[in-house]
Amino acid sequence: MNVPANDQCPICYTPLSNEALQRQPNGKLSGQGGQRVTYCATGHGFHAGCAAMCLGLSNTACPMCRQPHRDGLDIDVANLLLEPHATQVENPASATDDQRRQAAAILGELAGSKEDGDLYVDALQNRVAITDVFPIYGGPPAVQVDLMKLMRALLKNHRANQDALHAAGGIAELFTRAMRLPLPPPSDPDGIALMRESLRALSHAVHDHKPNVEALQAAQGGIPMSVALLNALLAMPAPPMAPGEVGELLRHLCYFSSTHSAIEAA
Ligand SMILES: [Zn+2]
Ligand SMILES: [Zn+2]
Repeated sequence: MNVPANDQCPICYTPLSNEALQRQPNGKLSGQGGQRVTYCATGHGFHAGCAAMCLGLSNTACPMCRQPHRDGLDIDVANLLLEPHATQVENPASATDDQRRQAAAILGELAGSKEDGDLYVDALQNRVAITDVFPIYGGPPAVQVDLMKLMRALLKNHRANQDALHAAGGIAELFTRAMRLPLPPPSDPDGIALMRESLRALSHAVHDHKPNVEALQAAQGGIPMSVALLNALLAMPAPPMAPGEVGELLRHLCYFSSTHSAIEAA
C-alpha cells in the first residue's frame, strides 16, 4: 500500500499515525519515532524524535520545503518526547515504584543525550521535581546511571530542586555515589559513568547554593566530605570527566567554603 507523503515521516519513512509501532516493550522508542508534530508553516508532519534530530542540525529549515521551522517547535518537541514518561514519574498513585523508575530512566537518557543547555532541561524541570526521583533511586547499574543523569538535569540552575535535595539529605547520598575509590576499572563502564554523573549532579547541587556546600562540609568517617572529595579529585590520575568540569566542581565547592584553607594546607 502506498502511504501518502503527509502520513509518512520524511526522515524515517515510517507512518506518522501509529506511535505504538515505534515503541519497544520497555517503552523506549525504536529509531527516532514519537508522536506527530507539525514542523513548518507548510504543515509538514514529522515524528517528534525525528524533528528533534533536525533541530540539532546546523540548518534547521524544513527538509521538505526549506521553510524555517515554526515558532515554539522546540518546546513542543521536548514536551512530546517527555510523554508518557513524565506523567508516570509524577504520579505515585498510578504507577509502581519500578514503573516510575523505568520511566525516570528514559527521561534521564533523553536528558543525557545532549550537552548542557539542551532542548530538554527546561521542559524536564517544568514537568518533574527532584522529589519525584530521589525516593525511587535504585535498580540495576545502567538504570542508576540514567536516574543520575535525570537528577543532574533537574539540579542545573534550579534553586527549588537544590533546596529539595538539601531537605531530603541528598548531598551525603550524592557524595557516596560519587566517591567510588579506587576508580572503577575500564571493565565496569556503568561504574565509571555513575561516578561521573554523580560528580556532575554534585557540581550542580552546590553551584551558588550555600546550604548544600555546608552539607558537604559535614564529616563522614572523620573527615569533611568536601575535603575527601577534594583529595580524591586531586589524587585521581584520570578523573572520569573533563578537566574543565573538575575545575568547575572545585570552584563551586570553594565558593562559600572553608575548603580553600584545605587547599592552602595541601
Ligand atoms: Zn520519523
Ligand atoms: Zn515543510
